[in-house]
Amino acid sequence: MYAVDRDPLLLTPGPLTTSLRTKQAMLHDWGSWDAGFNTITADVCRQLVAIAHGEDSHVCVPLQGSGTFSVEAALGTLVPRHGKVLVPNNGAYCARILKILGYLGREAVELRFAEDQPADPAAIEAALAADPAITHVAQVHCETGTGILNPLAEIAAAVARQGRELIVDAMSSFAALDIDLRTTPITALVAASGKCLEGVPGMGFVIVRQSALEAAAGNCHSLAMDLHDQWQYMQKTTQWRFTPPTHVVVALHAALAQYAEEGGLNARHARYAANCAALVDGMAGLGLKPFLAPEHQAPIIVTFHAPSGPNYDFKTFYAAVRDKGFILYPGKLTEVDTFRVGCIGALTTQDMAKVIDAVGATLRAMNVAVDG
Ligand SMILES: *Cc1c(COP(=O)(O)O)cnc(C)c1O
Repeated sequence: MYAVDRDPLLLTPGPLTTSLRTKQAMLHDWGSWDAGFNTITADVCRQLVAIAHGEDSHVCVPLQGSGTFSVEAALGTLVPRHGKVLVPNNGAYCARILKILGYLGREAVELRFAEDQPADPAAIEAALAADPAITHVAQVHCETGTGILNPLAEIAAAVARQGRELIVDAMSSFAALDIDLRTTPITALVAASGKCLEGVPGMGFVIVRQSALEAAAGNCHSLAMDLHDQWQYMQKTTQWRFTPPTHVVVALHAALAQYAEEGGLNARHARYAANCAALVDGMAGLGLKPFLAPEHQAPIIVTFHAPSGPNYDFKTFYAAVRDKGFILYPGKLTEVDTFRVGCIGALTTQDMAKVIDAVGATLRAMNVAVDG
């Protein structure tokens, strides 16, 4: 049982802590055929495209499921069966893209980078120049496995110079880190309801250049994952193909209203950056150091080196911090012992200060010595 009389705050990369207003939006039932609901879907899609400034070129195709479903749908729909995809790999979500391409039977080339180093646009450009058979690049923007930021604008420019298509997993960055489709050539951006938009999990979406989507008819290996079919059906009927996640959609609509009221992308970015700075400073006071160099750190999730010494054990640490009302996240690195703390969700620097207090008290109670 939790020792505090509220839901624990989620310091994770999703699901996230959401506002009361977002949760309250789910206290109604909606019919999938009803114009009231379909108007909300259309409004959500319109706002999502506008966040990335894609109104003149891109359309939004929503899809049921977690974020990975939409990544898989984007790859399966946009990459032709004889296409070939270059995947710059500096972490777990890049590796997941490679795994998806394996399942889909699409040819893939991995371009490896160290997990603490951003993907290098020059190396990507050289790999494309060396292999004209590559049709697409699939790039993760913020690699949530570590929290590293990849230089998307430079990568997009390199891919465009080489005349290839770019599919971006912007799951953990969309709506918090600026992506401007007017100036950054991107074929498709994939994200989801339950990350920086602060909705609840259950739907993803792909913001895709309309001409590329139109050209993708018949590519997809799967009916449920076919974004072209989903889009066509929605255009024709205003409805979702198959049962929509109604409560998730209305919660996202409420979350988008709060996003606009907060001040949109700049305000959301500023709040997360302040959370991240407060977290890194506070943890430094406890002797805990981030895994990444500060210049590579996105203000989304921070990987910390675990304390050294025999008294530290993640499970015990996790459970004690949870009992104080905060959910941390395990590390995803194989070589180094780490844990992660998210900066996103309906959280402020006051919440981050309480997290630091809980972590400090827990480490003292566990008798874990940290240098500092
Ligand atoms: C969260 C996330 C996903 C999707 O994960 P799901 O568990 O399927 O929601 C994909 N890519 C990145 C970079 C993410 O952070």
